[in-house]
Amino acid sequence: MVAIKTFSLPRQTKLFMPTQVYIEEKALDYPLGRHLQNLFALRQIPITMVPSHNQLNIPGSTSAERFHRAKETLVVGVKRDLNFRPCRPSADFRLVENTSCPGKCQYCYLAANLGERIYPRVYVNVDEILLAARRKIQSRIPELTTFEASSSSDPVALEHFTGSLAKTIEFFRDQPYGRLRVATKFAAIEPFLALEHGGHTRFRYSLNTERIIREYEEGTAPLEARLQGSRRLAEADYPIGFIIAPLMIYPQWQEEYGQLLDRVREVLGPWGKREIPFELIMHRFTARSKRLTQARFPQSTLDFDAAARTHKGFGKYVYTPKKAQELAEFFQKEIPRRFPQGTVAYFT
Ligand code: SF4
Repeated sequence: MVAIKTFSLPRQTKLFMPTQVYIEEKALDYPLGRHLQNLFALRQIPITMVPSHNQLNIPGSTSAERFHRAKETLVVGVKRDLNFRPCRPSADFRLVENTSCPGKCQYCYLAANLGERIYPRVYVNVDEILLAARRKIQSRIPELTTFEASSSSDPVALEHFTGSLAKTIEFFRDQPYGRLRVATKFAAIEPFLALEHGGHTRFRYSLNTERIIREYEEGTAPLEARLQGSRRLAEADYPIGFIIAPLMIYPQWQEEYGQLLDRVREVLGPWGKREIPFELIMHRFTARSKRLTQARFPQSTLDFDAAARTHKGFGKYVYTPKKAQELAEFFQKEIPRRFPQGTVAYFT
């Protein structure tokens, strides 16, 4: 009998609860699949059994309607492909235990990549995924192998259903040659604070200016909750870091990114003197993401002005080299001014 960990969660944190759940039939072969079936049945959330999520047809007469409905849906499934894809520059490989998330960030690259399959999915065969990770780590010894848990989802947003991330952190504690990296915009980090992690998991909060969070990151935690979360993770002795993304250029960007860095330093207090890597990712879009975002968020003010960007091929638009340099120089100067051991891990 496998013990499924569930957690009591803080009241102030807005937790995702789906309005409908689809369970792949194979998921019931796993204890976590059966646990989730019971959990949603007890909450009287409509459950539909399906052979595969690929057959789902989320109803809605417009793209916007289908998108918002999909984001209120949860799929419980089995991860079939246990191969690990590269995840540069953040880690060696992706570790996928969930897909998509309940957040509605307008610029989210998953929103474009997943198309109509944007509904959050959790996978119940976590033990198989971790077994495959162990094999991958062992095959590369003496090299250290890093895995990114947030390449296809925000795992913290779905943790209250599965407990999978806590299990994964404990798994990595016992891997002398394996490291886990987690990025999040959600605040429910209590389940991780008392875990023995061995310093093998690095949490990075994904941040942006208050204006950008308010305007484009619906359904995620406010800036202040993220900052308090990073402080608590640092106090629990996790290595921490920050992702500032997507970097956007708008009239007050220098002032507001400066204020953001000030606030990070204030909230971290003495923890701000530790080694803190910052990952910096500029806003970019593709012709497809522009079309999908404008259909899903007809009032969106996101800057999709292709004429003001550089076309990198394959329909992808990025800031011009001159603007990219301005952004890079700003953060290269402002981060070390506030964080004695702060580094720019990468700028892209
Ligand atoms: Fe996408 Fe992350 Fe926002 Fe979720 S929180 S919608 S994964 S950018």
